[in-house]
Amino acid sequence: MKRPRILIIYTGGTIGMIEDQETKALRPFDFSHLMENVPKVKMLDYEIDNFQFHPPIDSSDMSIAHWQQMARIIDGNYNRYDGFVVLHGTDTMAYTASALSFMLEGLAKPVIITGSQLPIGEVRTDGEENLITALQIAAATDHDGKPMVREVAILFENYLWRGNRSTKSSADNFNAFKSNNYPALARIGLGIEYNHEALARPADGDGLRVIYDFDQSVAIIDLFPGLSQVMLKQVLGTPGLKGIVLRTYGAGNSPTTKWFIDAIRNAITRGVVILNVTQCFHGSVCANRYVSGDILSATGVVSGFDITCEAAITKMMSLFGRGLTHDEVVEALRRPLCGEMTLR
Ligand code: ASP
Repeated sequence: MKRPRILIIYTGGTIGMIEDQETKALRPFDFSHLMENVPKVKMLDYEIDNFQFHPPIDSSDMSIAHWQQMARIIDGNYNRYDGFVVLHGTDTMAYTASALSFMLEGLAKPVIITGSQLPIGEVRTDGEENLITALQIAAATDHDGKPMVREVAILFENYLWRGNRSTKSSADNFNAFKSNNYPALARIGLGIEYNHEALARPADGDGLRVIYDFDQSVAIIDLFPGLSQVMLKQVLGTPGLKGIVLRTYGAGNSPTTKWFIDAIRNAITRGVVILNVTQCFHGSVCANRYVSGDILSATGVVSGFDITCEAAITKMMSLFGRGLTHDEVVEALRRPLCGEMTLR
C-alpha cells in the first residue's frame, strides 16, 4: 500500500499563533512552531509536505490575491498529492472555502480547511485534533480507492461541512462552524462517520481547471428598519457597480415603500445584478410567500434560495471575474455550480 501524500498549506490564523510576551496579544508564528507542537502528526504514516505563507496572516487580512495563491499551489501540485489541508484563521474561513469551491472546477480530491480557536501551543488547544483529523480525512479513500472527499470542506471539532455551505457561528466554541442548510459531510466522534449521501460525487471529468479571476465590483447590502434612501441610493449608484447581494428579511422580504422598490428597479434596469439572500440562519428565500417578497422579485431580483452570504458574494465575484455577460451571470446565479444551494 502506498502511503498517502498530503500537502499542508499553512496560511496563518490562531492555529499557528503565539502570545506576544510584551503585549499578550496573539501574533502569527512560523510553521516550524506548528510541527514542533504536534509530534503526533509524525505518527500518521503519511508523506506530508508543507507550504507556508510568508508572512502567515490573520485571516481578517484575507484577500483575493491569497485565494489565488492557494489555488495556484493546489493547481501546481494537484497530481502529486492525494489531498490538501489548508490551515486558516476562522474569521474568513467560510469565505475562502466558498471562493475555492468556485475556483477549483472539476476538483476530485479533498481540500480540507481547518484552524483552531486556541493556538496549537496551548495545553487545551483544539488545533492538534483538528489538524490530525483534517489529515486523516484528506487521506481517506472509499471502497474503490477514490478519495472519500472530492470537494472543498471545512473540518472543525466534531463536523466536516461542505465549504460553500459553512458559516462561522461562534467566536469561542470549539464547534465554531455550522452549515444551517446542508447536512454534515461527516461526524467526528470516536471515529469519522461519513455521510455518503451528502458527499459530492462529481462525474469523472477532464481534471482540475482553476478559474483565477474575481471582479470586486460588488457589494453586500443588509436590510434593517431605518435604512435610509440616501444610503441605499449612494451604494446602488456606485460607479462601476455590477452586483449586489441583498440580505433580506425571512423568506426574502423587503420594504414595499415606493422609494425602496424604485431604487432597486432602477439599479436592475441599469444592469446591476441583485441577488436575494435571507438574513435568517436557516431556510430559503421563497419570493412569493409574502406580498413584500413578491413585489421585490417582480423588480428582477434573483433568488439566492438557501445560499450563504459568504457563498453568494464569492460566487458573484467569481462569475463577473469570468467575463460573463449580464445574462450569463444571472443564469449561473439561478443554479448551483458546486452544491452551494438547493433550489426550491
Ligand atoms: N483572527 C483569527 C483569524 O481568523 C481568528 C482565528 O484564527 O480563529 O485568523
